[in-house]
Amino acid sequence: KTVALDEDRLRKSRQVNGALWSWAVPERHEGARLVGVSAAGAQLVGLSHEQFWANKEAAAAVWSGNQRLPGSNGWAHCYGGHQFGAWAEQLGDGRAISLGEVATKDGRWEIQLKGSGRTPYSRFGDGYAVRRSSIREYLAAEHLHALGVPSSRSLALVFTDRVVEREEPELGAVLTRLSPSWVRFGSFELPAARGDYELVRKLADYMLRHHFADIADQGEEADAENRYARLLRRVVQLTAHTVAQWQAVGFCHGVMNTDNMSLLGRTIDYGPFAFIDAYDPHFICNHSDPLGRYAFDEQPRVALWNLIRLAAPLSVQIDSPEPPFQHTRTDALSKPTVEIIENVLNGFQGLFASEYARIMRRKFGLFRTAEDDDAAGLVKPFLALIAKARTDYTFAMRTLCRAPEALAATTDFSDKFSQLRSLVDALAERSLNLKCGSEEWKESVCCFFETVYAPRLARDLGCADQKLTPADAETARELGAQMKRENPRFVLRNWVAQDVIERAEKGDEQWIDKVLAVMTTHAFDDQLPEHLAEAEVYAGPVPEWGEGLQCSCSS
Ligand code: AMP
Ligand code: MG
Ligand code: MG
Repeated sequence: KTVALDEDRLRKSRQVNGALWSWAVPERHEGARLVGVSAAGAQLVGLSHEQFWANKEAAAAVWSGNQRLPGSNGWAHCYGGHQFGAWAEQLGDGRAISLGEVATKDGRWEIQLKGSGRTPYSRFGDGYAVRRSSIREYLAAEHLHALGVPSSRSLALVFTDRVVEREEPELGAVLTRLSPSWVRFGSFELPAARGDYELVRKLADYMLRHHFADIADQGEEADAENRYARLLRRVVQLTAHTVAQWQAVGFCHGVMNTDNMSLLGRTIDYGPFAFIDAYDPHFICNHSDPLGRYAFDEQPRVALWNLIRLAAPLSVQIDSPEPPFQHTRTDALSKPTVEIIENVLNGFQGLFASEYARIMRRKFGLFRTAEDDDAAGLVKPFLALIAKARTDYTFAMRTLCRAPEALAATTDFSDKFSQLRSLVDALAERSLNLKCGSEEWKESVCCFFETVYAPRLARDLGCADQKLTPADAETARELGAQMKRENPRFVLRNWVAQDVIERAEKGDEQWIDKVLAVMTTHAFDDQLPEHLAEAEVYAGPVPEWGEGLQCSCSS
């Protein structure tokens, strides 16, 4: 049932106590027009992208928020967060409005508009989003999903004629995005900071019932972990897995504040994110982060720091899981509770490390055997080499896929793997730091290939006697193809996103969904289909203007 709402009163910025959300209504946007639809995203909520294009005016009206869906009463989430390490009090959805949830046989999706106007949580913001950041999030969410990284999803992208004041006036957009839940670490932190542990418990129970049903109702034996401990444990697992995927694919989120950490461990709230081009472990993508709190190699540590923030509100529930609810903030936690929390949080490092090692082994083509020292013996030395020369990360990993083929071409291991040398030349060509791309560096990389990587691959292929039979050679070639499904050829690099944005500004808005196809369906392809061939350059070297591009938080 649609409720009547006083829109002006509704949008008044205010502190919302004792609630986790507020009613919210999108503002009206002139000139709304549909520019992008994710076919895969549409499918999630039981729609087809043809339906959108067949009636694009209606689609633009609905997915800009101009036309209210029957029965839909929008809401904005209330949450707090630690921003750059400091507690920021109430934040909330300042420019996102959820329209409702779609329940499908595979689960539920909360449909959210981003950039549709003010909410009680807009504070000093205008509630709008500009086109460039909306294009980036629209593409990136679908792209990460296609790369196997848990993420929110994109449904549709609408451009409006609204002039949005940023450093310069820009034009507006509304992005429709999907997640099974938009609850964040900060959703728990805010009521806890206000001493409202009753509300923390309601939220924890809600999340258990609707999103973690498999751990909600396990037995509550005296010596077993209770459901709130299991919830924390699960979030630790999910977060470790997602961050391991980020590190493996070279993705830097850029704003890992606790209000941007999904309780489902999905990548959410794409801002100044970037994929690493020239490999630098301490890469910083956020222009507003000069100290590198959210630098690439800090991400696992920050994830744990954020989980510790989440553990605080949950600790009270873990300590006294059953009503009547008696905890006050000053009560000390019991020793068993402290031990459980220590144990769960201590698990993060191991979960992250083993997941990262698992993914990297696959990227290096070691599908058959796992050796304990794979990461230390293989991954680390290779990353150290490409860090020294600042070799393109995505290109370097994709180049590894040619190693089995090179091996197959040499049936005699004593010829020093001459084929492998051409791979080293290719890597040198995509190394930014040319001084290190010199002969000495190339020798070190050859040495790595010859003495470390090739023998390890050969051992994995079961030819430890250092002779490849023709049958082994065939297996090696198959292995190369398998590796290509683990190492994308296309990632949504900053310069690529920038190119899409500029083309759209010049009127080529159809390019957005073409690049969406490249970054999803074709990200692992050796060759793009004819109609997308123009995007081949996106697998090539980063143009000089695109090196070291940084975005800031303002979007
Ligand atoms: P972020 O770190 O970009 O996810 O945003 C931090 C907080 O600022 C969130 O509560 C956002 O809803 C809010 N915010 C960001 N941009 C705007 C805007 N233009 N208008 C209103 N709120 C905003
Ligand atoms: Mg956010
Ligand atoms: Mg944001």
